[in-house]
Amino acid sequence: MSLPKISFEFFPPKTAAGTEKLRATRVQLAPLKPKFMSVTFGAGGSTQQGTLNTVLEMASEGFEAAPHLSCIGASKESLRCILMQYRAHGIRHIVALRGDLPSGMGEIGELRYACDLVTFVRAEHSDWFHIEVAAYPEYHPQSKSPRADLENFIRKMKAGANSAITQYFYNADAYFRFVDDAHKLGVDAPIVPGIMPITNYIQLMRFSKMCGAEVPKWISRRLEGFGDDREAIRAFGLDVMTAICERLVANGVPGLHFYTLNSAVASKVICERLSG
Ligand code: FAD
Repeated sequence: MSLPKISFEFFPPKTAAGTEKLRATRVQLAPLKPKFMSVTFGAGGSTQQGTLNTVLEMASEGFEAAPHLSCIGASKESLRCILMQYRAHGIRHIVALRGDLPSGMGEIGELRYACDLVTFVRAEHSDWFHIEVAAYPEYHPQSKSPRADLENFIRKMKAGANSAITQYFYNADAYFRFVDDAHKLGVDAPIVPGIMPITNYIQLMRFSKMCGAEVPKWISRRLEGFGDDREAIRAFGLDVMTAICERLVANGVPGLHFYTLNSAVASKVICERLSG
């Protein structure tokens, strides 16, 4: 099976050891020739410097680096400064998000939704940046209805986004249906599935509850049944994710975007199995 475009997502490390680990992760993933690597951004600017440093280091290693940027809690002026910094360093690819305000931070900021950020970036920088936005095949947990969320997605794309990356999912049908619905509403831009390898039961259930991704019962029950047997969880997780990715690739997805959590192994094994 030939692999579509691959991309990897990282978070900015907070310690010297984390930075070293991420360097090693990139070395392990480089042979997969990723189209780009993205770096998350803490809403409210909490990781601003870390995101910039990580992105610049990746770019200096020759990777196409795409910083995430969220608008919630931010002023236009602060967003303007960040975008100017990226531009000055030759960065041409961003992931534009609303983000979630950390608890205790009250102010929404000057741009309320991701579509407002996309409009702002286009107004200030024309076509300099390739803009990705987030898509939710199982719908964003705060959306009023699936239809309203789909309409929001269409609004973001029409505001000037070039492509989208989805929240992770374990129901491929939800992804296919979402892409079909978007096509029917006139969006033909690539909608790349986000892939979250399964490596840790508790963490997976916690993340999924927060972001509204459904873990099918047969998967959660099997994972739960493995208890502390990390090797069994790893092996099962790899089989499940590889099978989902095989189905996605067989159906012609425009890419696979891996949520690596700064570890190479699971994403690498899945890619190798797909291309083997
Ligand atoms: P939006 O598209 O603005 O949507 C947010 C909610 O508002 C949705 O429920 C939507 O339906 C609703 N909505 C939108 N427009 C309107 C409107 N006009 N009227 C009424 N309702 C509306 N978070 C981070 O903090 N940092 C990151 O680096 C990060 N990276 C991510 C990468 C990907 C690929 C994905 C899928 C998510 C990422 N997130 C990140 C999480 C994201 O910030 C949250 O899911 C956040 O809650 C929504 O961001 P958004 O850009 O999708 O928001």
